[in-house]
Amino acid sequence: MFKLTRYFSIASLIGMTIVVASLSWFYHHLSYRTIVKHGAGENQVLTTIFANSVWDTVHPYLQKASSMTRDELLSLAQTEALLEQLTQKIRGTPVVKVKIYNRDGVTVFSTDPAQIGEDDSDNPGVKGALAGQIIDEIAYRNEIDSFHGTLSHRNLISSYTPIRSASTGEVEAVFEIYSDITELLTDLRLSTWQILAAAMASLTVLYILLYLIVRRADRIIRHHDSEREASEARMRYQAYHDPLTDLPNRTSFTERLAEIVKATDRGGRLFAVMFIDLDRFKLINDGLGHDAGDHLLRVVAQRISSCVREADQVFRMGGDEFTVVLNTLERPESAAFVARRIIEALSEPIRVYDHELIVGASIGITISPTDSNVPERLVKNADTAMYTAKENGGRRYEFFTKKMNIIANERLEMESALQKAVREGEFELFYQPRIDTATGTTVAMEALLRWHHPRDGLVEPARFISLLEETGLIIPVGEWVLREACRQLKVWHGDGMNRLRISVNISSRQFSAGTLVDDVAAVLADTGLPPQSLELEVTETLLVDNAEVALETLTRLKEIGVCLSIDDFGSGYSSLNYLKQFPVDYLKIDRHFVVDSEYDEKGAAIATAITMLAESLRIKVVAEGVENQRQFDFMTAHYCDEMQGFLFSRPRPAREIKAWLTSQASAKVLVLK
Ligand code: C2E
Ligand code: MG
Ligand code: MG
Repeated sequence: MFKLTRYFSIASLIGMTIVVASLSWFYHHLSYRTIVKHGAGENQVLTTIFANSVWDTVHPYLQKASSMTRDELLSLAQTEALLEQLTQKIRGTPVVKVKIYNRDGVTVFSTDPAQIGEDDSDNPGVKGALAGQIIDEIAYRNEIDSFHGTLSHRNLISSYTPIRSASTGEVEAVFEIYSDITELLTDLRLSTWQILAAAMASLTVLYILLYLIVRRADRIIRHHDSEREASEARMRYQAYHDPLTDLPNRTSFTERLAEIVKATDRGGRLFAVMFIDLDRFKLINDGLGHDAGDHLLRVVAQRISSCVREADQVFRMGGDEFTVVLNTLERPESAAFVARRIIEALSEPIRVYDHELIVGASIGITISPTDSNVPERLVKNADTAMYTAKENGGRRYEFFTKKMNIIANERLEMESALQKAVREGEFELFYQPRIDTATGTTVAMEALLRWHHPRDGLVEPARFISLLEETGLIIPVGEWVLREACRQLKVWHGDGMNRLRISVNISSRQFSAGTLVDDVAAVLADTGLPPQSLELEVTETLLVDNAEVALETLTRLKEIGVCLSIDDFGSGYSSLNYLKQFPVDYLKIDRHFVVDSEYDEKGAAIATAITMLAESLRIKVVAEGVENQRQFDFMTAHYCDEMQGFLFSRPRPAREIKAWLTSQASAKVLVLK
């Protein structure tokens, strides 16, 4: 911002300095010239007076003196007489010294006798005067011999004046008079300072006055500026917001959509556009009046906003039409969750005056870039889908594409089936052994979740884990897995397999729920298992996405004494930095890198690099998905500490494990050769 007062102050200071400096320079210069002129004039007058009064003495003296030596001149009685005469005349005047030169430029007389007889024919003053001019010089002397004795630190004006013969008019001699102007100059300096101080004082007063005015002006300008900015911001806000609900309006929506399309074009992210239209709004608006309608719309706006995440945006397009942009979607079906939440929220009665109203909403969803990446097309898609939802009876959502509708319905069905599964305990844990490469013994079991679906039979986690995570059901299920796995291990320990450990997969939702550490501690305390017999498997994504929380949680888990491993290492971000920070015991190499070196050289190179890296960081390596002898040989050759895979055993129900372990001795011989 332009700082008027500051600039004024700086400019004033510079201006004042210039004014005062030039004023004092002019004043000093002018006064000095006047003093010099005045002194020189005075010298002239005095010279004329002296010359006239002593000419009778000087004239014969001059004639005599021309042919005499210095000593002769000094011993001359006339010299003494002239000195006396001049001393008397000079008394009371500023003259401190008088010298007389003859036509040859020789000092024939001086009030300072030491100078008598000196040849000054080269002195420019003398030369000039002999040529008929009056020469004035100003000089500063540290010391000067005068009538009044030796004077120090004096400013003098010396004037060389030619003395002409009355008859011929020729220059016969030169008179030089030194006048003392020290006091005049001291007065001049003093008065310069006084003028300076007076100028400074008046300028300062002027400055203060102007400063006060400028400061006031500055405040007024600033006040106006901030008012203008505020009103501009108000206008901008009004231009982009709906005054009734305070939500961003249609203009905002259009701009935002264009921005998102542009951003996702580059990043390839998925996002959804949702059109929401209230089902019975017209009826309410007409029946109860506009005030009731307005009130209803405000509540609807709040309810829709409470159903979306902070990163998502809700807009009011006008009337009873709202839109939502879901900025990032992991999968298109996620939009169905939000739509359902909104429909549920709007199905709750809304109190308007004395009425309990239920409006209901129809929602159309389109996914970008899958359906289109052109803003206008997306708007049209969502609108079409919304009309389909209305035609199908309202209070429902529809995707623009049929396929999406099918997927979303399937997931919806699956979600309620999972909820039932949690309630009725349809889950079971399977266990997959982990073998120590060096000894061939089974050192651990990985607990893997299975779902006994009432219709589809045994379902593998790939089909339902992500849905459990999305719906948050993974929290109770994950807790059950942890408890059940530990309970089972305790049973195996009781059966004599007391060196066996168990590893449990932990999802990132369990991490962010914040109760993991307490749950683990409680389960260990309840089952009485030694903490080191429990291993928790986390994914790289979890560590990278929320490094701070992850570090804190992992550190606390380590303090309890449980082991930690990174699952599917190499398949995620593989930011090697976290390996340094996190207290990890095992890296489980993703099965895509547990390869057959004969057929996959690059995969083999990655597996080799991982084992080398882990070794130097003193982290143990587990190879996952070892399916055949060649893979086993390769991983053994590359210092893999432990292995897991179909080569040893598929995941099995707990009841089969004991028998498998007993039969394992013969398998061990086979595998280790
Ligand atoms: P994971 O933790 O990496 O588990 C290993 C997966 O690889 C298991 O699949 C296992 O059956 C499979 N596998 C083992 N050996 C081989 C092999 O030699 N070849 C092949 N092709 N596959 C092999 P599963 O049981 O279907 O589990 C899949 C994923 O589901 C697990 O991967 C894990 O990320 C997740 N999961 C399983 N149970 C749980 C659980 O209780 N909680 C959480 N959060 N995730 C779980
Ligand atoms: Mg695992
Ligand atoms: Mg794995």
